[in-house]
Amino acid sequence: MSKLNILNNTLSFEQKKELLEEKSLLAEQTQPNQKLKTLPKMVGITPDTAKGLKTKAFKYILGHDKDRKILKAILKHPLRYTFRYLTSIFKKKNYHRKEDLFFYGVKSKEAFINQCKRKNAHLVVGFSYCQKPHECPSGRFTDKCIRDFTNPICAQCDIGKLCALAPKNSSLVMIPTVHDIGNLFFDLVHKEPDKEHLFVITACEMTLTMFADFGNMLALKGIGIRLDGRICNTMRAFDLSERGVKPGLTVLRSKTYDQMLELFKDLEN
Ligand code: SF4
Repeated sequence: MSKLNILNNTLSFEQKKELLEEKSLLAEQTQPNQKLKTLPKMVGITPDTAKGLKTKAFKYILGHDKDRKILKAILKHPLRYTFRYLTSIFKKKNYHRKEDLFFYGVKSKEAFINQCKRKNAHLVVGFSYCQKPHECPSGRFTDKCIRDFTNPICAQCDIGKLCALAPKNSSLVMIPTVHDIGNLFFDLVHKEPDKEHLFVITACEMTLTMFADFGNMLALKGIGIRLDGRICNTMRAFDLSERGVKPGLTVLRSKTYDQMLELFKDLEN
């Protein structure tokens, strides 16, 4: 099966999904990717880390803001962004969670799908780099992903399969750092203000919680998909990960992977 077969637009969503699973199983039998043997039992955020997390997030974003890009973007509309940020931090709940799905600016999957079906909608589908396999031919701590389905590593990779099944016209991005995704959304919002920029992004619970206020600052609507496995649940681990030091793998639980696929299928219909 070639890359072209999978990307063939005449195939239905289910046919593509079956082809991808078939190819993945075959690749696993001949050249298996390194995997987590079991899912470690880790809390999403350690109690110490959870204390004052909003302040930690604020300090982290501005303290690691290379070339002051985020600050300069905020200063383009200081009143608007400050008002939205303050409104968000004083809200009891700045996102809504249902199992592994975190909703921002929308309360349900259905409401999100309705937003995505609007004429001016632009969907960004993003994946945290820590979800890439160790053997990734594009490298782990990069924003690259060649998605070559003739390569057995890509054939087994959840990111590759999800990218192949993501809604047409969505922008697919690999996320090395929180500043990379922040800068991307500031750019989109400033360069294409008439569009509604929405997102589906995989990340660990700590990141999904920490940066909710910044998403709300930009009035973004989206769904965060919680990663499991060797997640970051302390500031120290998060800081190292943001520098590319991340020996552990993160994964989507199989139920969550299926929910993500179901969301993509609903967005196609
Ligand atoms: S599909 Fe992308 S992320 Fe996955 S192994 Fe291939 S290049 Fe890496």
